[in-house]
Amino acid sequence: MKIAVIGGGAAGFFAALSAKEKHPQAHLTLFEKSQKLLAKVKVSGGGRCNVTNACSDIAELSRAYPRGGKKLKKAFHEFNTPDTIQWFESRGVPLLVQEDQCIFPQAQDSQVVIDCLMSEARRLGVHIEVGRGIASIEPKGAQWELRFLKAENLPLSFDKVIVATGGSPKRSGLEWLEALGHKIEDPVPSLFTFNMPKEPIKKLMGVVVENAVTSIQGTKLKGDGPLLITHWGMSGPAILKLSAFGARILSEMNYEFKVQVNWVNEQNHDVVLAGLSKIAAENAQKQLANFRPYLLPKRLWHYLLEKGGFGENRRWNELGKKGLNKIQMLLTNDTYAVQGKTTFKEEFVTCGGVSLDSINFKTMESRVCPGLYFAGEVMDIDGITGGYNFQSAWTTGWIAGKLG
Ligand SMILES: Cc1cc2nc3c(=O)[nH]c(=O)nc-3n(C[C@H](O)[C@H](O)[C@H](O)COP(=O)(O)OP(=O)(O)OC[C@H]3O[C@@H](n4cnc5c(N)ncnc54)[C@H](O)[C@@H]3O)c2cc1C
Repeated sequence: MKIAVIGGGAAGFFAALSAKEKHPQAHLTLFEKSQKLLAKVKVSGGGRCNVTNACSDIAELSRAYPRGGKKLKKAFHEFNTPDTIQWFESRGVPLLVQEDQCIFPQAQDSQVVIDCLMSEARRLGVHIEVGRGIASIEPKGAQWELRFLKAENLPLSFDKVIVATGGSPKRSGLEWLEALGHKIEDPVPSLFTFNMPKEPIKKLMGVVVENAVTSIQGTKLKGDGPLLITHWGMSGPAILKLSAFGARILSEMNYEFKVQVNWVNEQNHDVVLAGLSKIAAENAQKQLANFRPYLLPKRLWHYLLEKGGFGENRRWNELGKKGLNKIQMLLTNDTYAVQGKTTFKEEFVTCGGVSLDSINFKTMESRVCPGLYFAGEVMDIDGITGGYNFQSAWTTGWIAGKLG
């Protein structure tokens, strides 16, 4: 049997290794368009590679994927986060779980992941060709003929083909797969931070609120977790989650919308109001600036007071019901205008790609082209940050490699 894997990223490598383990007699070639293999693994996680996440509860894990979660749920029963951990650790890559549940190599260096995948590929006899981009796939009897971007590379035929070409920022990059009859979901960026050119809160850059709740006005989108104020606007998990779950809606809004921030992570506004009344009663003579509710960062508290028009010397007992209500609103429903986005630490994923309707998730085989399989981000699957995107590449690559 002749197998081709297209794409030398995380998904392509894992699919190739899985295929050679299950079909050792097969002749397998991995084609990579660029000169570099595993380029994203190298730069991932700030050069440390967030390989996976410690979450092993499949229902919870699948909720980390704005697109593809439902389908991945079944796939995780075959290859889940503990399988990833076991796979790497049993091959000489000890891993470390961070407090935030993200898992990195103990060596804190993505190169150890690359070395492991490369040495496994050598051991199993994966033939690798770099600088060999595929332009199109065409049926040739019971086989598939690959045509290369470079005319001097003659077409080659294979019995099975695994497509693992990663996310494409433009629909045109997926036309060769559309031509085969696959449905394509328009690609748009996911995982970005919010620009707030007109909001003075940017002057607080560097301030972190440990557990904020965010939402987008006029939508049902909600995020939570740490929120970081940046030079451009806002970032951190509470924002990145909104960008991931809202990737398509926010693109349609042309990245102009209002974000509402609940700085204190308390949804019940009456509870916040009662808390503020208690503070006012117990700290009657104190100036507002000198007593921070919910231990908010000092700079943020002072900013909110200024935003609400509370004078520097105002005391807690001078607020009255109106004043307390106003503070409660500032703490729980603080609104900012977003205009534009910025890539988060150069880390981004693509929402969209080959529609999951075109793929049988039991095998990752195309529903329209028998013998053609998919793995990784080329599909309409993406996760939030935290090692989830690689996990989906490992899982789908593993299943695709079975060629079932
Ligand atoms: C800077 C950055 C940091 C990241 N950090 C993390 C992290 O720490 N943890 C995490 O889980 N996720 C992270 N991600 C996301 C993660 O890297 C991707 O989701 C993952 O790499 C997808 O794997 P893939 O194999 O599907 O695609 P890719 O890694 O994109 O690989 C696809 C490969 O196919 C090749 N290719 C494309 N077209 C063709 C063609 N026509 N013919 C031949 N070859 C082709 C490409 O050159 C590429 O090498 C990060 C992303 C970025 C950009």
